[in-house]
Amino acid sequence: MNLDGVREVQELLRDALPAGCRDIGRNWIGGAWVDSSGTSFETIDPSTGRPLHRIAVADESQVAAATLAAAEAYEAWWALDGHARATIFWNIAKGIREKRRELAVLDTLDAGRPLRDTTSRDVERAARIFEFFAGVTDRVRGALIPVAPGFRNVTVMEPQGVVGAIIPWNYPLTNAATKLAPAMATGNAVVLKPSEETPLSAMLLAQIAHEAGVPAGVLNVVNGPGATTGEALVRDPRVNKIAFTGSTAVGRKIAAIAGEGLKSVTLELGGKSPCIVFDDVDVDGAAAAALFSLVSNQGQTCTAATRLVVSRSVQERLLARMRELALKVRVGNPLDMRTMVGPLISRRQFERVQRYIDAGVEEGATKEMLDVDWAVENSDGYFVRPTIYTNVGVNMKIHREEIFGPVLAVTPFDTEDEAIDLANHSNFGLAGSIWTENLRRAERMSAKLRTGIVWINAVHALHPGSPYGGLRESGMGLEMGLEAVTQFMRTKSVWTAVEPWRSPWAPA
Ligand code: NAD
Repeated sequence: MNLDGVREVQELLRDALPAGCRDIGRNWIGGAWVDSSGTSFETIDPSTGRPLHRIAVADESQVAAATLAAAEAYEAWWALDGHARATIFWNIAKGIREKRRELAVLDTLDAGRPLRDTTSRDVERAARIFEFFAGVTDRVRGALIPVAPGFRNVTVMEPQGVVGAIIPWNYPLTNAATKLAPAMATGNAVVLKPSEETPLSAMLLAQIAHEAGVPAGVLNVVNGPGATTGEALVRDPRVNKIAFTGSTAVGRKIAAIAGEGLKSVTLELGGKSPCIVFDDVDVDGAAAAALFSLVSNQGQTCTAATRLVVSRSVQERLLARMRELALKVRVGNPLDMRTMVGPLISRRQFERVQRYIDAGVEEGATKEMLDVDWAVENSDGYFVRPTIYTNVGVNMKIHREEIFGPVLAVTPFDTEDEAIDLANHSNFGLAGSIWTENLRRAERMSAKLRTGIVWINAVHALHPGSPYGGLRESGMGLEMGLEAVTQFMRTKSVWTAVEPWRSPWAPA
């Protein structure tokens, strides 16, 4: 399939969207599609720069209606037998797979992520996230604590109540599933605010969840800009917990507002992850991984290995192999199943990445644009060529700042100590990968690497059962795994006097 025409795109869109969102994308509040407050915005197809669909903005009063619907729904949802919630989750996973094509098309049109990835990896991953958390709905339990004689002390796990979930545009469907599944599995009701760049697949997911049996109010979706709709959600007094994924700058702002309201908050923020390659590895394998991490999703992955920390003795061989492999990377129309890399998300992001590419030159690093299979003809889309910088200083912007595009900073090392110093020379601390055949060295490096995730001889390995989260400017709190359960619940300590209890002041 290779569809460039506006009409074909509109037909694809129409077929994929829920009926209630075909003329305009609406907000899903209390189990119904709600019309706009009067304002709307346009989402753009990043592969052409053309408008894609008009979306109704949820203003403050609609955000309040959504949090009210959630507040009214969550107790009954939590009171359901865990098995009943699990059954609904299995239905959601089934519904996601049944709407595989529609969900994939929506994310590809909206985010420019290649259809081959959205169809296979993203849809399957979203379904599995719901299946994993179906397994925790009736396994959440407290503890009996041996306290003073005459007392029984038990801990009771309770949902936080209303969760405000705010997500970015890079993997719209899986970002939504990552927030919704653990929050809803643990008895919360959620108000989800997707990115204004990519609001479409969340509409279909809401419809799927509704048809799967999620009661009205347990899942709500509000659309609009971060500064208005997003901030209204964070400030809303009914919201007890904010689960945010996005940039470090916005994360800071949200943490400050949540702090004022003393709300619980988890933050999954930016990254500048190192890929550390020693000279004892299979260079071909490491080169393929480094290239994949750099260019997949156009470099718009929070854990992308955007710093290559490489043993000086293999640097040239590794880069030569990356150049060779890059020739086969097809960049082009994301709807074409042969395309491996699509456009960046927006003109703003395109200009930002260009500014970083220019900054690298201005700061004196050596720039090389990779030769790829460039199938981009006469397009106004936001395509960018993968770029590698060598002769990089650690204080250069391209080494310090998150670019969120396919730009790699290469720094060579001679010793293991130098490798770890280079890798840790960052305010971020999301992920890092270590390539070595030496098991002891891998263990030493893993212990010293200041990141929340470490991959040894791999990149981007993910599983819903494995916790995910960063340190320092990459955020706080964890997603996924059983760890996510505790982030969406609170622990109540209940004391029962099982023997007659006398106050210390009681008369003898
Ligand atoms: P962003 O911070 O600009 O926006 C993220 C979300 O926050 C959007 O929905 C946006 O509308 C909303 N928002 C913006 N301002 C807000 C405000 N004042 N109050 C409330 N909400 C607000 O990020 P982005 O450009 O959409 O995404 C890219 C960033 O996300 C990168 O920094 C990337 O590293 C990060 N990210 C992190 C992870 C992770 O797991 N650590 C995963 C994916 C993306």
